[in-house]
Amino acid sequence: MKKKPIDHLKERLVEISHLVSILNLLNWDREVYMPKKGSDPRSVAIAHLSGIIHNKMIALDQDGLLSGLKKQLDEKKLKGKDAVIVTETWRTFDRERKLPEDFVRKLAETASMAQDVWAEAREKNDFKLFLPWLKKIVDLKKKEAELVGFSDSPYDALLDAYEPDLTSREASEVLNDLKDFLVPFLKKIRASKEGLDPSKLKGKFPLDKQIAFNEMLSKAIGFDFEAGRLDQSTHPFTTNFHPGDVRITTRYDDNDIIYSLGSTIHETGHALYEQGLPIEHFGTPLSESVSLGIHESQSRLWENNIGRSKPFWRYLYPILCKEFPEPFSKTPLDEFYKIINKVEPSLIRTQADEVTYNLHIIIRFEIEKEMIEGTIDLADLPQIWRAKVKEYLGIEVPNDKEGILQDVHWSAGLIGYFPTYSLGNLYAAQLYATMKKKIPNLAGEIAVGKFKEINVWLRENIHMHGKTFTARDLIKRATGEYLNSRFFNNYLEEKYGEIYSMK
Ligand code: MG
Repeated sequence: MKKKPIDHLKERLVEISHLVSILNLLNWDREVYMPKKGSDPRSVAIAHLSGIIHNKMIALDQDGLLSGLKKQLDEKKLKGKDAVIVTETWRTFDRERKLPEDFVRKLAETASMAQDVWAEAREKNDFKLFLPWLKKIVDLKKKEAELVGFSDSPYDALLDAYEPDLTSREASEVLNDLKDFLVPFLKKIRASKEGLDPSKLKGKFPLDKQIAFNEMLSKAIGFDFEAGRLDQSTHPFTTNFHPGDVRITTRYDDNDIIYSLGSTIHETGHALYEQGLPIEHFGTPLSESVSLGIHESQSRLWENNIGRSKPFWRYLYPILCKEFPEPFSKTPLDEFYKIINKVEPSLIRTQADEVTYNLHIIIRFEIEKEMIEGTIDLADLPQIWRAKVKEYLGIEVPNDKEGILQDVHWSAGLIGYFPTYSLGNLYAAQLYATMKKKIPNLAGEIAVGKFKEINVWLRENIHMHGKTFTARDLIKRATGEYLNSRFFNNYLEEKYGEIYSMK
């Protein structure tokens, strides 16, 4: 029997996916094992392979295969899984083909150099050094938006690469609602008199014992070590080669084990999503995560909603105290719980607590949207940053190193990426509120270290669907409602109202 066009497409997609897995492996190795002198040749290898993958993507339509299937789709002749595969493959292909190869190369080269300049500028606390490179990046990203096309704001075209279908108007609405809640809420917390001392939780934690503890925890939550590894890197991340091989990394601090546990739980949440994708559809969009926002919701749900909850530490704290009586046995659970949830405005996003974190994101979102819309002078960014931090977080920024220069994203050409972090927090709160209703005795299960029901629920409602539904529809299906920041606000009010004894 003659093979159907959809089967030809699947074959080509599987081939591309294996190449992407090799690319991910090269990147993983670069962060985890590669010696310093391997850097330059590795960059060349990665650039070559990226080019091959780009060409393979374009070649999906070499003989009219993909556009033929797209025609069938538009004529409603494709149904179910086949329709999803063609819709989502077309989405990726269409973006890819609109960006000429010389443009992609130019952007990659500029971003690579801009990251080096950024690192130096941050080191020297010198924004002026970075400014011309930021200008180049912003111009290229404006060009990208033009090439891809947009109807309302050019920012839409960039956001779409990370959170498909979400418009900047919608993102603005949801983040503005969030800001309107968070700014006064933070003021109330700061006015309360709860004195919490994080230095009580510092001590001496030998690396081998930390590694063993982190592995134990990741496994307890549900990470399958026969389908993945946990390693170390400077910046924790998750990457996947296949649902049967998912790699996570964490980082260790000799004096602070809580630091590694937070990262490990976060990355385990990402990994459970990747391990939970339907293996039988590997290579197709049916076995791919739906958006960065949904991905981040999986990590944040585990890290914060579960991993910073009282029931979770009812389970884990006795084990932690047994393993590390020094320093923990001196601090009762209630006090420990409050300390790890301490709210304090700070300069650095990656160290922010659950309440202030999204204000860091909102600052970046507001600025980058204006950068792309061209309504801001890039030279004014340090001052704009300072004013926003003062207004939203109530603190002074002493230098650009801890201000406008702190994140790598813009130098790497990642504009439109930041909002997905906040979307992740909002989706997570909405999913958690639903889970509380759907899983009987959720808190009781968590308090005895039973996470099976949670994993089953997430797998059935999120993981197994791959890209079958858009993020918007997936959340509606899972929770009965479209994205709404109310869930997150309620979650914070309930949790921090108790911790800070606020009415
Ligand atoms: Mg993450």
